Amino acid sequence: MKKQKNSRGKVYLVGAGPGDPGLITLRGKYLLERAEVVVYDYLASKKLLRHVPEEATLIYAGKKGGGLHAFTQEEINRILIRHGREGKMVVRLKGGDPFIFGRGAEEIEELVAAGIDFEVVPGVTSATAAATYAGIPITHREYTASVAFVTGHEAPGKKESNIAWDKLATGAGTIVVYMGIKNLPVITRKLIEHGRDPDTPVAVVRWASTPEQHSVEGTLENITTVVREAGIRPPALVIIGEVVRLRNSIDWYERRPLFGKKVVVTRTREQASELVARLEEYGADCLEYSTIHIEPVEDYRILDAALEEMDTFSWILFTSLNAITYFFRRLYGTGRDVRHLGGLRIAAVGRTTARALREHGLQADLLPEKFTGEDLGRALIREGVRGRKILLPRALKALNTLPEMLADHGAEVVIAPVYRNVPPAGPRDELRRRLESGEIDVVTFTSSSTVTNFLTMVGAESAEELHRLLRDVRLVAIGPVTAETIRKSGLQVDIQPETYTIPDMVDAIVNFYRDGGD
Ligand code: SAH
Repeated sequence: MKKQKNSRGKVYLVGAGPGDPGLITLRGKYLLERAEVVVYDYLASKKLLRHVPEEATLIYAGKKGGGLHAFTQEEINRILIRHGREGKMVVRLKGGDPFIFGRGAEEIEELVAAGIDFEVVPGVTSATAAATYAGIPITHREYTASVAFVTGHEAPGKKESNIAWDKLATGAGTIVVYMGIKNLPVITRKLIEHGRDPDTPVAVVRWASTPEQHSVEGTLENITTVVREAGIRPPALVIIGEVVRLRNSIDWYERRPLFGKKVVVTRTREQASELVARLEEYGADCLEYSTIHIEPVEDYRILDAALEEMDTFSWILFTSLNAITYFFRRLYGTGRDVRHLGGLRIAAVGRTTARALREHGLQADLLPEKFTGEDLGRALIREGVRGRKILLPRALKALNTLPEMLADHGAEVVIAPVYRNVPPAGPRDELRRRLESGEIDVVTFTSSSTVTNFLTMVGAESAEELHRLLRDVRLVAIGPVTAETIRKSGLQVDIQPETYTIPDMVDAIVNFYRDGGD
C-alpha cells in the first residue's frame, strides 16, 4: 500500500472469526498484514497476530467480563480515533462478526463523528461456528426453517428487556443465545412458560472452534443442571432446537483423534509448519517452541576449498534440508550454479531432501530404503566408496556415524560445515510452567539436536527433576538416532514411526491414541 504524506488514517473493523485462526476472511488477513496498529479483543484468536508486521503496535483491549475490562468502550473509541487521526492504518480486530453483539456499530458511530475513514469486514460469527464445530446444522429442511440470534445478557422478565421471549419461544425454530450462561435458568424457564417443549434438545458450546472447545447436551428442562455440573463458564453459546439431535451423527470436531491433546513441537522455526499443520488436522493443540535457530556458519573455508576442486569428488551427500539450503546459498553466492556439480553423483537421505534437490533441478542418484544416515552409508558402501572423495555439507556439530562408516571403507570424506544450530533464549519460563502444571501431553523430536536443545531449555537441575517434569508426557522420536539421543538422556521413547518422515511420525502419534494410549 503506497502511503501518501498527510494521508488520512483509516480504521478497519475486522471480524476475527470465532477462534479458529483459519476462519478469518482473506480480506481480514490482508488488512492484518498491512496494519500499523492492531487493537484486539479477548475473543479474537491471538494466533491471528502472527499475520501482523513486526513493527506494528499491538493494543490489547480485551473485555473479559466480570469487571476485568482492560479498557472501557469509551477508551477503546478514543484509542481508535487517536491513531486514525495520526494517519495510521488501524485494524480493530473483534471476535466473530463485528456487527453481531460486538458493539461494532458504536465504534463506527464515534469514528463517523470524528470524521475518520473506516471499513467493516464481516467475520464468521461464533453462533454458526459453534453449531458447525459441535456437529449441529443450524437449519435443516426437516427440522427448522428459521433461526434467531439473541443475547442472553438482558435477563428476561426485566422491564427494559428488548427481547420478546414470549414470541421467540415458539416463533423461531432454532434459537442461539449469546452471553447466555449466567441467565440460563431464567431463559430456559421463560421459553418453557411460553410454550416451548421442555424436551427440546439444547447444546452448550464453550470456546467453540478452539482446542479448548467443550460442548454438552441436554434439554430445555435440564440443561441448567448439565451446564453447572460440567462447570461450563463463558464464553459459551446456547443452541436450542430440534437440530441439536443431529449432533450424534455429525459431531466431527471433538471426535478427531488428537482433539484436546497439547503437543509440543520442537522444530526449528523455519521447519515447524508441516508438522504443526498435520497435527492440527487431527485436532492437536500445538505449542511451538523454536528450540533451534539455524544460522549460517562463520567460516566457509572447507566448503569453498571443496568447491574449488569439485572435479576431484565422486559424491556429494545431503542428509538434511538445512544442509541443502545453506550449501546452495554458498554455491550460488560464489557466482556458481548447479552445473558446477555436473560431474558428481548425488545422494539424498530421504524423500524430503530428494524433493528439495529437485527444486534445484537435481535428481538424486541414490536414496536409501530407510531414511537414516546409516542406511545411506550402507547404500553408498554397496556402490563402492574405496578411494573415492565424498563431500558432506552439514551442521557444524553433528554425529560422526556416517562419515566414520564411509572412512572405514576407504573413502575420503570431507565434512563441510554449512550451518549451525543455536538454541534461542526466549520462552523457557513458559515451557517450564506448562510442564509443571502437567498440561502437556506429547513432545515431538525430529532430530537429535531438538532433543538436546529441548533439554537445555527445560533446564532441569537433576535427573529426578527432569523425570518429574516429564512424568506424564509422551516423548516421540522421528527415528532411531533421535530415539537414541533421548535414551542417552535417561528418558524413555514412547512413540516412534517405522519410516522416518513427518507424516509417518504424525500417524504413529494418532495410532498411539487410537489404540487407547493416554
Ligand atoms: N461478535 C461476536 C460475539 C460477541 S458477544 C460474534 O460474532 O461471535 C460475546 C459472546 O459471544 C460470548 O459471551 C459467547 O456467548 C459468544 N462467543 C464468542 N466467541 C465464542 C466462542 N469461541 N465459543 C463460544 N461462544 C463464543
